[in-house]
Amino acid sequence: WKRHCVWDAEGGYHRLETEDVGDVPVRLFLGDALLRECEQDVYRQIVNATRFPGVKCVVITPDVHVGYGVPVGCVILTDRDEGAVAMGPVGFDIGCGMVSARSDAPAEAATPDRQLEFNREVMERVALGAGGKSHRFGELSKRELEEVVRGGAEHYVEAHGARVDRHRAERQRIPVDDGWKIPWGGKGNPERGLAQLGTLGGGNHFIELQRSEQTSTLFVQVHTGSRGFGHGLATNYFEMARAEHPEQRDIDLGFFTPDSAHYREYLNAVAAGGNYAIVNRLVLFEAVAEAFRRVFRKDLELIYEISHNLVQAETHPEFGKVWVHRKGATRAFPGGHPALRGTEWEASGHPVLIPGSNRDWSYILRPKPGAVKSAYSVNHGAGRRLSRGEATRTLDQQKIDEQYRRDGILVNLDGRVPLDEAAPCYKSSDEVVSAVVAAGLAEIEHRLWPVCSLKG
Ligand code: 5GP
Ligand code: MN
Ligand code: MN
Repeated sequence: WKRHCVWDAEGGYHRLETEDVGDVPVRLFLGDALLRECEQDVYRQIVNATRFPGVKCVVITPDVHVGYGVPVGCVILTDRDEGAVAMGPVGFDIGCGMVSARSDAPAEAATPDRQLEFNREVMERVALGAGGKSHRFGELSKRELEEVVRGGAEHYVEAHGARVDRHRAERQRIPVDDGWKIPWGGKGNPERGLAQLGTLGGGNHFIELQRSEQTSTLFVQVHTGSRGFGHGLATNYFEMARAEHPEQRDIDLGFFTPDSAHYREYLNAVAAGGNYAIVNRLVLFEAVAEAFRRVFRKDLELIYEISHNLVQAETHPEFGKVWVHRKGATRAFPGGHPALRGTEWEASGHPVLIPGSNRDWSYILRPKPGAVKSAYSVNHGAGRRLSRGEATRTLDQQKIDEQYRRDGILVNLDGRVPLDEAAPCYKSSDEVVSAVVAAGLAEIEHRLWPVCSLKG
């Protein structure tokens, strides 16, 4: 299939031209080397991405790898009047995303003792891991949770007197219809979310202290999503889509068209899950800022909060009114974009938060006008290169731990790096971000090197 990728010199991307994708424009922002390395199975999933009803464009970002039904690192635009809203292209962790914060504490302040102290202080305030319970809220009632998921960042900051500037969140409040009812129970069991507001979760979710190459000061990045609440909603609606389209064998390719009874319901679920994820990240930011103040005697300032698994209503100059599904891709509105009017990002474009790995560069990017070509989207990370199984089979625990120790990066409290989350599991973030920069989508504002990192 790579032979059918035609380089568009003006656009700075490859166009995929095969019969399988028909006349849906497919743009790959990988550059030559990353395209060559791209897994064979990604092609089948790109074809899947073009097949939902009403698809107007598919964009592939350079961190692309195989996902559920469609690749992670893809953007799917569907017609907002007649097209589908698809579920695999949002995923199970509805609203998963990032927070970045900055300080003027000098990087040298993070001595080995302070690294350990920081990780400890964070762990006293935030539950890590899959089953963790919220230190801050304990278990919310269903009514309290409803308020959070309907009110989003707006409600959270006002009702809880939170010390965060909510205007630094990508979405203040994603609107949820009054008439929509949370599908409690079911196979997905979204009630798991009642006890998880302000928890990190497991897998590759992380809290990381970093140093900016540009300022030589300490920064923080957090990666987490909507926990069991979003996962539960997603699971329940995947089941409903399956019941509606029994002929659709692959559950990951579930979708709803506007004539479906579940179309609005699913959009409401994404909004509620999205709000949960945003508030979860703001709560974590506050907890981490408290830990940071204790250890470094300095304030942490929220830079931005943004998701990389969401479907949002947008208007695009070339494709009109669309649903933009970003599955492992990040919104990138440059200065002058109408959606930023009246915000502090109006002239500059909003920050874009890109994690790398716990032993590689992470980034803060700034979108450029060229991002119009990629449906105002860039990558969401470096992207996985080794599966978890391959990593635990092939990587040597002692060697990996030694590399991190030599570099002065503390992972968790004991420096034992989870092998399925170690740096070799991910592509080179420099290579991935270079592809984005070369295509004129964004520029680098901060390059961030890990100092100490907590994994769920
Ligand atoms: P995903 O949202 O697809 O689960 O993962 C997002 C990205 O986070 C991955 O592609 C990877 O580049 C990045 N990442 C995973 N673990 C870490 C970590 O511990 N630290 C940093 N800085 N980035 C990570
Ligand atoms: Mn996630
Ligand atoms: Mn994520």
